[in-house]
Amino acid sequence: MADRNPKHVVVLGAGMAGLYAAWQLQQSGCTVTVYEAQDRIGGRNWTLRKGDLVPDTSTLAQACNFSGGQYFNAGAWRVMPHHRRMMSLAMELGIALMPIHVSQPAMGLYAAGGMDAFPHGMASRLTSGVRTGCQVLRLIPERNNHFSRAVVEYRVGDQTHATQSDAVLVALPLGLVRPLLQRWAPGVESALHQVQSADAIKVAWEAGDDPESGWPVNSMSDQPDQSGLRLIWPHDPVPAVQRVVVAYGNSHALQEVFRGSRVRAVEQAESYLRQFRGFSDLKFLHALAVQWARIPFQRAAAYRLRPESNAALQQLRQGQAPVFFAADGLSSFNGWQEGALESAEAAVQQVSRYLQI
Ligand SMILES: Cc1cc2nc3c(=O)[nH]c(=O)nc-3n(C[C@H](O)[C@H](O)[C@H](O)COP(=O)(O)OP(=O)(O)OC[C@H]3O[C@@H](n4cnc5c(N)ncnc54)[C@H](O)[C@@H]3O)c2cc1C
Repeated sequence: MADRNPKHVVVLGAGMAGLYAAWQLQQSGCTVTVYEAQDRIGGRNWTLRKGDLVPDTSTLAQACNFSGGQYFNAGAWRVMPHHRRMMSLAMELGIALMPIHVSQPAMGLYAAGGMDAFPHGMASRLTSGVRTGCQVLRLIPERNNHFSRAVVEYRVGDQTHATQSDAVLVALPLGLVRPLLQRWAPGVESALHQVQSADAIKVAWEAGDDPESGWPVNSMSDQPDQSGLRLIWPHDPVPAVQRVVVAYGNSHALQEVFRGSRVRAVEQAESYLRQFRGFSDLKFLHALAVQWARIPFQRAAAYRLRPESNAALQQLRQGQAPVFFAADGLSSFNGWQEGALESAEAAVQQVSRYLQI
């Protein structure tokens, strides 16, 4: 029988970790509210299509001008077969996963139609949905002899609100949590102080080549080259339904290949592809650049703690009741969606123990 007074848990952030945690908590009988600052869900699982906007903290937003049916995974783009939670989730949500390259299984699998099928699939199963456009401003612990709870202050438009709950599961980018904490335990604050960030960029174009002639699929590289640049080509050689070509650079490539303004970075990436990769004849159309440090509410591609920060890692994994943390950077699969799920699972277990559900 359903609990007459179900516990209320607030989840902060509607990325893979937040949505997975919210869904599991709902399945345990909790009432769950998810607050998300952006006007979209998914966080670093972000698929762009015609008409979508890419906000930028330093300059004007870009619009995606790809043809209808084309898509670009600006963040997560593949699932590895040994990522068991992601594989089960795909099965549960009915998401078809296809090999990126049939003769190179180590490259992993892609979600046909876009990686955002994962966040959207989970969000559609949440009874209370996700409250997008809700920016969390502060998280204030409240304690007395009888209870301990956290007050979440958030902003919708120009209105500020506050809410209380039985527990809070923080699934925000780890590097953005510290400024939100008020009167927090020094251990948690100092652990968050040790979080480091890494940037990455993806430049995508719709290729104007003749799909019948086939794609240069052999150019697809699993590992970044010396400059830290990796190429991602359309998945199916013939017929080439997908025509989006991606140059994906890590922080090294950002220094070496993508220097300067966004426009300059796109020019440099294209000239690099033509000059060093030999794609002199291919037409590159409708360039779109996503540099994660410039995306509001993300501000980096990855957040992690150094291996020597083990005490800080343990502190964040443990949380501080009634507040618990989930993020790929707290898992054993750092930088992967599997890590976001692993960490969410652990945080849900802590919430459940704390609330005795
Ligand atoms: C370029 C790139 C390539 C990647 N490739 C892969 C890959 O191929 N395969 C793979 O498995 N993983 C990949 N990853 C990693 C994967 O995307 C992440 O591990 C995973 O998506 C992280 O999920 P998360 O929920 O922990 O965090 P996030 O996705 O960062 O979610 C945090 C959420 O919190 C929200 N938020 C922030 N501040 C606030 C606030 N104040 N109030 C309310 N909400 C807020 C954000 O908007 C966001 O939605 C890649 C990542 C990047 C950037």
